[in-house]
Amino acid sequence: MDIDSMKCRNCGGTSLSPKNSDIMVCDYCGAEYDLAQLRAKAAALEKEQKAIDALAGDLSRLRQLADQKEAERQKAIDEEKRKKKSCARSSCA
Ligand SMILES: [Zn+2]
Repeated sequence: MDIDSMKCRNCGGTSLSPKNSDIMVCDYCGAEYDLAQLRAKAAALEKEQKAIDALAGDLSRLRQLADQKEAERQKAIDEEKRKKKSCARSSCA
């Protein structure tokens, strides 16, 4: 989350000015926001996002593995069919 471009949750205004190093004030309605709290929230969100990204990565790896297994299975079935056909032709069954 970019604190500089945050919106006022009270009035939706997009212009917030720093009152001091810890507090931002909405230019429209005067609502005050504690920067330390916002930063902590942003950090928590970022951590959550990273965990979600990691899970998504695992999931896509698992999907790839499943696709690979399915392709191998299909190949084995095709191979089996080919063997049976060539046997039928040469009447070796
Ligand atoms: Zn406001």
